[in-house]
Amino acid sequence: MAMVSLARRRAADALFLRRPQAAAWSSALRAYATSGEESDVVVIGGGPGGYVAAIKAAQMGLKTTCIEKRGTLGGTCLNVGCIPSKALLHSSHMYHEAANSFAHHGVKFSNLEIDLPAMMAQKDKAVAGLTKGIEGLFKKNKVDYVKGSGKFVSSSEVSVDLIDGGSTTVKGKNIIIATGSDVKSLPGITIDEKKVVSSTGALALTEIPKKLVVIGAGYIGLEMGSVWNRLGSEVTVVEFAPDIVPSMDGEIRKQFQRMLEKQKMKFMLKTKVVGVDTSGSGVKLTVEPAAGGEPTVLEADIVLISAGRTPYTAGLGLDAIGVETDKGGRILVDKRFMTNVNGVYAIGDAIPGPMLAHKAEEDGVACVEFIAGKEGHVDYDTVPGVVYTHPEVASVGKTEEQVKASGVPYQVGKFPLLANSRAKAIDDAEGLVKVVSEKETDRILGVHIMAPNAGEIIHEAVLALQYGALSEDVARTCHAHPTVSEALKEACMQTYSKAIHI
Ligand SMILES: Cc1cc2nc3c(=O)[nH]c(=O)nc-3n(C[C@H](O)[C@H](O)[C@H](O)COP(=O)(O)OP(=O)(O)OC[C@H]3O[C@@H](n4cnc5c(N)ncnc54)[C@H](O)[C@@H]3O)c2cc1C
Repeated sequence: MAMVSLARRRAADALFLRRPQAAAWSSALRAYATSGEESDVVVIGGGPGGYVAAIKAAQMGLKTTCIEKRGTLGGTCLNVGCIPSKALLHSSHMYHEAANSFAHHGVKFSNLEIDLPAMMAQKDKAVAGLTKGIEGLFKKNKVDYVKGSGKFVSSSEVSVDLIDGGSTTVKGKNIIIATGSDVKSLPGITIDEKKVVSSTGALALTEIPKKLVVIGAGYIGLEMGSVWNRLGSEVTVVEFAPDIVPSMDGEIRKQFQRMLEKQKMKFMLKTKVVGVDTSGSGVKLTVEPAAGGEPTVLEADIVLISAGRTPYTAGLGLDAIGVETDKGGRILVDKRFMTNVNGVYAIGDAIPGPMLAHKAEEDGVACVEFIAGKEGHVDYDTVPGVVYTHPEVASVGKTEEQVKASGVPYQVGKFPLLANSRAKAIDDAEGLVKVVSEKETDRILGVHIMAPNAGEIIHEAVLALQYGALSEDVARTCHAHPTVSEALKEACMQTYSKAIHI
């Protein structure tokens, strides 16, 4: 069933606006409130959750203010996350290709060099362009942008310490907390952003480290490890768990690790860090088996702590208004994104759920739709996840392990990239597509892709899951040839019948 029609049906019983003044919003929806009045919506935080919520609210005719303390919009994602990491992943991939693959394709040259300052400058330019772009969108949509750090005074008032000095108070009928997340360190380890860095420091190194140790084999650690590995660092990834990226399908994860090892990344799994010594010129890291045992000392120029992120609510004054959080500090919300405090909402990395920019954006739109008395909709079962290494690894829906554990009889279709004509033509044929579908109905339950551009191809699978497609539906959909996407079609064929090309 189409989501839009579902949303329309649900809108009929959308009688959930909890604030009395919300009823008077038919007028707010028709025109902006005059300046000086309290805003209809105040958003604290200008990341992908916050800025998207602010733009959407303004587009719906609500007087909207967004408070951001960073000085630039776009949050973690645009400033120190998705965008700069993808810029460096692309630049380092180009270098790696030039150094290792071009000659094979008959393109030869001498004097290949890395100009790190130029690489960083192109990343910074991309970030600056995009963050300025959001400011432009705020102007276009008439979102009031307040540069400063916000703190709750009451459930409808936020005092702001302005970046340029002084303070102001912003009043809102509804307030959305979109303050995102921050780097999480490990007990006993201080991040100095020089020798012991977070992802933010790893995005701005001024020299290529000879030896880099990454603590944590999640998405961010593997992406940042890949960047510096490609540029020549000797990279060792230390991970407490027995596997890299534990949320990934087991079979894909194993192949992914093998592929990264082929690219010369080293892994120490089931290993814990017990000491860090930064007194010398480099860093000495003492590690031992997670289950206990003989310690080993690893030497590194730089250690990257990539052990997860934690919701960021410091200085927000949540206690003052009594907003409830869970043990991990995540703000608890109901299905309409409302906290336990009437009129105060929360979205994005600050609430439970995957810490991803596109999830934060979906939260933002749905939250504002609820506030405006309409039906919001986020399907958390179809939020895709992508690791932007090369090849990329992308997935949506359930892993085979999850389906097995659920007890639902299932079937699996797999197609190796080695049998895909486009991947062979461009000599980039490492990887596979795996489709898990329900045995009885053939409905697709999960899709896992390791392939070049998997992060783009996955959206066909997201749409398939969203619309409850069968693997046969995808297999009978004409795919352009030659494309890597054909591997998804063939994996779907293999699920309920037989693929043609293997
Ligand atoms: C290195 C790295 C790479 C990543 N790559 C990806 C990726 O490829 N794809 C993906 O989907 N996700 C990625 N992420 C995760 C993604 O960045 C986050 O999930 C996303 O930014 C969350 O959005 P948000 O709006 O909830 O919070 P944030 O983006 O964290 O924004 C919150 C904003 O609130 C501001 N703020 C906080 N407190 C206050 C206050 N009191 N007053 C005013 N302002 C305040 C902060 O300054 C910040 O700008 C990556 C993260 C990192 C660190």
